[in-house]
Amino acid sequence: MKIAISYPPIVNDQGQKAMVSQNRNVQFFKKPTYLLPVVHGQAASWLKNLGYDVLWDDGNAQLKDFDQWFRDLVAWRPDMVVFESTTPVMKFYWKLVDQLKSACPNCIVVMTGYHSMRRPEETLDRCQADIILRSNHIDFVLRKLVPYIDEHSNWRDHCPIEGLVIRRDEKDYLDTGNFKQIEPLDLSPDVDRDLVRWKDYAYENGNYLQVPGTYATSVIRDCMFGKCTFCRYNGPDLTFSMRSVEKSLDEYQRLVEDYGVREIFDDSGVWYRGAEARQFAKGIIDRGLHKKDCYFGFNTRFGYMDEETVALLAKANFRFLLIGMEASDEETLARLNKGYSLEDVEANLKLFTKYGLFPHLTIMVGYYWQTRKQLQQTVDTVKRLMFEGVARTLQVTLCTPLDFTPYHQECSEEGVLLTDDYDDFDMSKLIVKTPIPHDEYYAAIRDIYGVAFHPKFVGRQVQFLSRMRKSDWQFLFTYGTRAVRRVNQHVFNLTRHEGSPA
Ligand code: SF4
Repeated sequence: MKIAISYPPIVNDQGQKAMVSQNRNVQFFKKPTYLLPVVHGQAASWLKNLGYDVLWDDGNAQLKDFDQWFRDLVAWRPDMVVFESTTPVMKFYWKLVDQLKSACPNCIVVMTGYHSMRRPEETLDRCQADIILRSNHIDFVLRKLVPYIDEHSNWRDHCPIEGLVIRRDEKDYLDTGNFKQIEPLDLSPDVDRDLVRWKDYAYENGNYLQVPGTYATSVIRDCMFGKCTFCRYNGPDLTFSMRSVEKSLDEYQRLVEDYGVREIFDDSGVWYRGAEARQFAKGIIDRGLHKKDCYFGFNTRFGYMDEETVALLAKANFRFLLIGMEASDEETLARLNKGYSLEDVEANLKLFTKYGLFPHLTIMVGYYWQTRKQLQQTVDTVKRLMFEGVARTLQVTLCTPLDFTPYHQECSEEGVLLTDDYDDFDMSKLIVKTPIPHDEYYAAIRDIYGVAFHPKFVGRQVQFLSRMRKSDWQFLFTYGTRAVRRVNQHVFNLTRHEGSPA
């Protein structure tokens, strides 16, 4: 069988491309960041190892326009095409699936991703897709499903593989029941870097201070916390699975020594903590990888790292830590179920900075309850943390209810959603009723991003140079220019609806 794992180029009327991969919240960018979809990459690698003909077909990262991408895919004559779904691109996908079925009637179209897995019937009703994966373990399901289809012509009538909804005919669907929540991740192969053309993703990514960079095969699938109400890793159907430290260290060694990678980021919802985090850092040091001019980074939560662990990570040449701060008032943190206090935020950031790590804060504005006072508190706190030098970079987004997360359900139940058109869920504008005008949230975004140009922030970065660390010099002189370009893009994207009626 010939299987394509496909990401079509999706371009909006402003000429911006949608970034749909790696379970990200879709945003449209003129100058996109190409994120390697790790689990789909593992699925592709596994199917290739089983002897199937696999096409890694990321039209965005491969810089194709839609027509060229579509022509190339049809000409390849796939037996199966796998897509990844998320709310703001669902209408696009439904149209695309029908177009693809017209061009290749015998091709089996499989939808994966958090939107369709939570509403499988909707996608089967709205387009001619054949199979919806209700499991987030796309690699484990496809490695069973593809051989089964290959060997059983009656697969639509009977399929013993759990976690699928299969089209039998126009209105009759076969639901194969709940999927396995936990899988032994060590059985799934590392991403085959050559198959996924890793260099396509190695340069245009704001998380890298040095290039080429790459995403590691994630050590945790989904999130071991999994309770934040807005996050797609929160759901009764989800828990988390973990990869062994040694298997992951082997991959890091190959990436550094065989591929010459200079920055590795692990995009697990939340990376290892405690004993595993220390074991991993010690493993990097024991293998001498901390001396090979490669930085390491990951996502974490406030409250997950103690001083012993942070010191070891710093020694192992870890640098970039991405942390969801979201807001800085206790009511919002409690409503979002973040599970930490403002004291944890301050204490953790000071600890990271003491050991020379670079914390990157992610912040959101525009919660449907967010008052002017709460918004200002977030703006003031973030500015203070950046001026004090305990956080180095940041990213602000508009809180958008997506993929039937608890926050999405809550917005529907509270009657605060201003639209039910999925196209409006692209994070470019606020789509919930709020206690103050939307323009005040857009102004707050501009204010927060303005930190990057503020003399106090720049002065703090200059002070860091006295520590004589290479990363501080790179941050100011190399990364600085890239950051300014990205800040301008973010401000443009997130404030272009300023002045529109709410
Ligand atoms: S800690 Fe991060 S990844 Fe985990 S549920 Fe919360 S927002 Fe999602």
